[in-house]
This record gives sequence, C-alpha cells and structure tokens, in this order.
Amino acid sequence: MAEFDLVLSNGRILDGCGNPWYRGDLAIQDGHIAAIGPVGRLHGRQTLDMQERFVAPGFIDIHTHSDLSILVNRRAESAVRQGVTTHVVGNCGMSPAPLSAGHLADMRTYWGEIAAQPEVTWLWQTFKDYLAVIQTGGVAINIASLAGHAALRLAVMGYADRAPSVTELAVMQSLLSEAMQAGAFGLSTGLVYPPGCFAGTDEIIALGKIAAAYNGFYASHIRGERETILEAVAEAIHIGCEAGLPVQISHNAPKFGAARDARANLALVDAARLQGQDVTVDNDVHTDLAPALLHALPQRF
Ligand SMILES: [Zn+2]
Repeated sequence: MAEFDLVLSNGRILDGCGNPWYRGDLAIQDGHIAAIGPVGRLHGRQTLDMQERFVAPGFIDIHTHSDLSILVNRRAESAVRQGVTTHVVGNCGMSPAPLSAGHLADMRTYWGEIAAQPEVTWLWQTFKDYLAVIQTGGVAINIASLAGHAALRLAVMGYADRAPSVTELAVMQSLLSEAMQAGAFGLSTGLVYPPGCFAGTDEIIALGKIAAAYNGFYASHIRGERETILEAVAEAIHIGCEAGLPVQISHNAPKFGAARDARANLALVDAARLQGQDVTVDNDVHTDLAPALLHALPQRF
C-alpha cells in the first residue's frame, strides 16, 4: 500500500465544495492533497491524529481591510493562524487603487491613520500596479481585491457632493474596467461614508454593469444600518438585479436594531434568492447584537 508523506487521520473533512463534513483521513504527498479515504485506510510516514478536528483547504475571509496592512505584514499570521488562506480586500468602497496624482491627498485623508503607516509608500496609480506591489514582495495568503467605488470617485471627482457628469461617470467606468482586467474580483461600495454617500443608485448600477461584464460581484456597506436598514438592503438587491451581478451585503447586522428588523432583513434576502438572484451576506458579531440575532436566527435555521 502506498505510503504518503503525511496523513491527517480521523478528522472531520470539509472539502470546500459545499458538502457537509464527513469523517475521514487525508493524505498529503509532495505538498499536495494526494488522497482522501475512510479512517484508518491511508498510511503515511507521519500520521497526525486530528481527534475529530475540522480539516479544510482553508477559509476565505470575505470582509477584511488588509489592503495596506498586508504590505506591512506580508506573513499575515493573524489570518494564517485562524486557518484563513484568502483575504478579500477593497471592501466598503475602500481600495488603495486606482489613484490619480491630483487626488492623492484626498485618498490619504480617506484612509486616515492607516495611510499614515510609515511602512506604506503609495507607489502605484493603476489597480494593476497596486496588485503588482503585493505580488512582487510575496504574501503568505491569497488576496482577492475588490475595486472600491470611493477610490474610483475620488480619482475622478474628489469629494464633490453631487452626481458625476456623463464624462466623469464614463471615466469611472473605464477605471473600473481597467481594475477588472487587472484582476479585481468586483466592485464594492461604502454608502454611508463620503464620497460614497454622494452617489445615487443609478451611478452604482452603471458601475455594477462594468463589474458584471467581467463576472465580478458587488459587495456593499449599505446605505443605512439602523432605521433605514431595510431600504438599504432593498437597494443593494435592486442594484444587483439591475446590473446583473451577485450581491454580497457586508456585515449585514441590524446594529442596535430590533429583532423584527433582523427577520425582515433576512426575509428580503430570502425573497431575492427565491427569485433566483445570487444574494449573500456576511456578519460581524458584537455582543450588543446578540439579542436581536439570537431572536432572528432560530426562525431561519
Ligand atoms: Zn463597512
């Protein structure tokens, strides 16, 4: 019988295909998964008893802001030690690129103290250049970057509190197109922050169509998370529908909201999914959210 370099035995295997976990052994040969089998059937020069721990190819953290910190700490140990192997960055409308020279000061203001880190030098302008800076120095995890709507807007019209002109919108679209071609995974918005909050729904749909053309998805820090959260969830779903791309509602928790809002919120998402639309949410857990969430979740699961 073949002997592998390493067998992770008696684990609960999550294969990453959406299947429920199953008990098994997993063999590694030359740094790659070589076989998966029932417990006790695979033999290795070294065997580690997983004691029913989960064995997974790695987890994706869909919502991070590691865009600049990954350049400071390329080993990303805080992610790796949690089993996270991919960070999605560029969330909430914030990505460090594209960058126009005329609006560098706006961009630095936008990033605030994060941009003030002495280790971060803004050496790029295009999205492609930014990705190259990450790639060139090497990083311990995968980085999937979204193009931030705020970055696109700042590059073209700074903090102007108005709708873009036809020409300005066309330039934003072409910058987004460039970003998608360079490898961006989609478009993100932060609709409670300036300059994102100055954008109307139509502007986002027009940009969403560009991301859709490259099979990207739309991630949004929606326009309201308290009294107007239901309207904001509905807007995000509407944008996905009109632009024709999947929607990821970021940290979708009714902050300080009532349980009633949490149920209505998830009902909007369920209704869109029943219509065949690809809408998903992620969440961040705060202790002050627990009562509303605990109340809502049993209804769903
Ligand atoms: Zn956010």
